[in-house]
Amino acid sequence: MRIRGLILAVFLSIAFVSSHPQQPQPPIPPPDPRFKADVLVIVAHPDDDTGVSTFLAKAVLDQGKRAAVIFTNRGSSGPDAVSMAHGKALADIREIEARKSLAARGITNVWFLDGRDTPTQDVLHSLETLGHGQALDDMVRLIRLTRPDVIVTWMPAYVAGENHGDHQASAVVAVEAFDMAGNPADFPEQLTSPRDPHGIGQYGEGLQPWQAKKLYFFSDASHQDFLKGHGPAYLASDISPSKKVPYSEINRLGWEQDATQIDFSQEVLGYFLDMPEYLVLGKSLVPAPVDGDVFDGITARPIPYHPDPPCTEARRTGISLALGGPWAFYRQFYRAHDLTSLEKLVPPQSALSSDHRLWVPLLLRNDTASDADITLHPALPPGWTGNTQDLLYHLKPGETYPVQLFYQAPGENYKAPPQTLTWTALDHSSAVGKVTLSVYLEFDGVPQ
Ligand SMILES: [Zn+2]
Repeated sequence: MRIRGLILAVFLSIAFVSSHPQQPQPPIPPPDPRFKADVLVIVAHPDDDTGVSTFLAKAVLDQGKRAAVIFTNRGSSGPDAVSMAHGKALADIREIEARKSLAARGITNVWFLDGRDTPTQDVLHSLETLGHGQALDDMVRLIRLTRPDVIVTWMPAYVAGENHGDHQASAVVAVEAFDMAGNPADFPEQLTSPRDPHGIGQYGEGLQPWQAKKLYFFSDASHQDFLKGHGPAYLASDISPSKKVPYSEINRLGWEQDATQIDFSQEVLGYFLDMPEYLVLGKSLVPAPVDGDVFDGITARPIPYHPDPPCTEARRTGISLALGGPWAFYRQFYRAHDLTSLEKLVPPQSALSSDHRLWVPLLLRNDTASDADITLHPALPPGWTGNTQDLLYHLKPGETYPVQLFYQAPGENYKAPPQTLTWTALDHSSAVGKVTLSVYLEFDGVPQ
């Protein structure tokens, strides 16, 4: 009986197979290997890549890494060193300059987002003109397309220096995109497979989530010593093993294409060509030494989506005083994106020349259950003018007063060491809050 049953089972299985022929299905096409990047550089303007040109030359030409670049705008502002072109015409020129500059150094996967070149140092202003939401959508898509192991971007911080708001905004969106691209719940329309990949009129972009592994920052601060030791450094005087010339000569190949940007002397160009580059490790999701090579700890194996730890905002009580504007934004941003180390790395600072006003936004808060009369007392170095008097504020329970203060530095102190400005909140003559800002008296490049 058992043998007969076995024969019957074999017969039935043969009959089942023969009446239901198996149809081999095509394999899923892999992600397009032409767009895979080992490192994705995310910056604002068509010459910003020169801030990491020695790093890029070493990575691409000597280490054989694949690099791609995203610019958040096309550089329509600023002077044109070649012709009278401005606005959209200048943007059309600078897009080609940037493409040629990067191609001269082996980088051809280059994208431009639709931001507007905005001369400001206020990251919130630049995020507004960038079109924050659309830029984030676009950047998450390009991370999923290029699948970078490492992302290098400007430092999201308010520094004394050029401190360009567009640089900061490109960094803010890069950090957000680093954190979101691996999450299938974010921009899911990018991940949906088209129902018929060979048809027309499809929806769904067919990408895969991607978690980048390391995030590095570089800075446009005029004083870069504070960056040392927080990541690898790259010297333009080092010799490229593959090209047998100093990296500064490779950097020159890039700068030669950025002709509209060179509105300065050859001496100043030499300064840019030779500039040491200090990267700061923002976060690494793989074990790697802080000051090791950018690609240390990177393997070909993808890593799973890594959500940030939950963001907890400390509960405020009593009367408090804090820097407002971009400084207030960054305090929240660092907590939301697990970057609180930047808060220690970049203490509150600004810069201005004697012909510019210093803007100081403060937040005066009353988190008590009663009305409060608070005196704001500024302590300024000699010669400063502007809001130098004590100011009196009446705050109801729960109110936050956005204080806007403006100052002028004494001209004769130009190039002096950084000066310390302090504001103290006084409740019936006892101090209940204090804010300190270091101000470098130097040219700040773009309006604060
Ligand atoms: Zn720039």
